[in-house]
Amino acid sequence: MTQRILILGGTTEARQLAGRLAERADYAVTLSLAGRTAAPLAQPVPTRVGGFGGAVGLAHHLRQEGIGLLIDATHPYAARISANAVAAAETTRVPLIALRRPPWQPRDGDRWTGVPDVDAAVVSLGASPRRVFLALGRNEVGAYTRAPQHSYVIRSVDPIVPPLDVPDATYLLGRGPFGEAEDRALLLACRIDVVVAKNSGGDASYGKIAAARSLGIEVILIDRPPEPVGCAAATVDEALEAIAHRLACPAKRGE
Ligand code: NAP
Repeated sequence: MTQRILILGGTTEARQLAGRLAERADYAVTLSLAGRTAAPLAQPVPTRVGGFGGAVGLAHHLRQEGIGLLIDATHPYAARISANAVAAAETTRVPLIALRRPPWQPRDGDRWTGVPDVDAAVVSLGASPRRVFLALGRNEVGAYTRAPQHSYVIRSVDPIVPPLDVPDATYLLGRGPFGEAEDRALLLACRIDVVVAKNSGGDASYGKIAAARSLGIEVILIDRPPEPVGCAAATVDEALEAIAHRLACPAKRGE
């Protein structure tokens, strides 16, 4: 019997997992994207785009589509959809597996300042003007208008529209992965003295962290939101194992 699997995506790992599952004739996989990126990368399985309408809407979708397994492979900072996935899985008793990259751990030479959220990151830049590299999403950079004394270099996948209401901001468009050498050259060329980032984990956006370490530059790192408890995998391979196990043991549905 074909097993219907819904992957909540928007990450490299979600695309990779979808690609691996697509090789299986006994799985019918759909990947769900929020629709934040204007031109998302091509995906190896059919996609649907846009919100479900909260946990209730997601539960409805799972029932309507006959989904037998839900995989939350969203970004570690996408807390709302992950909470909705937990709630919808509980309501429908559809098993849920979360694929979550482990956070980066500090190494010798890292100058990290941990802050609880974007607002605290703005405050922690301080009063004196600094040259700041913002490696954050479109939704978060707006908070920096509250600290117009700093000069900003902002890298994003899609243009920041409208631009920040600050006197000095430079915009760079780019989609990762970004390597250490590339980011080191960028930090040097832009004379950056502080980086603000999320602790995304994985390799694709680690270049700036490694580059900052090698240059002795401070990194203000926004804490991850709390992760929902439940069946979690750290890698695509671990997720594949968990999927095979779940689908082989239907008695575990709703655990
Ligand atoms: P969020 O705050 O957790 O979610 C907000 C709402 O967006 C959700 O309630 C849901 O709407 C919809 N949504 C989110 N992900 C979805 C998905 N994969 N499929 C369908 N609807 C989805 O999420 P976010 O932080 O805005 O992130 C949005 C997307 O970008 C996620 O898919 C995430 O994987 C990706 N992303 C996020 C970050 C980040 O730093 N936050 C970085 C890289 C990629 P409804 O309630 O209407 O269902």
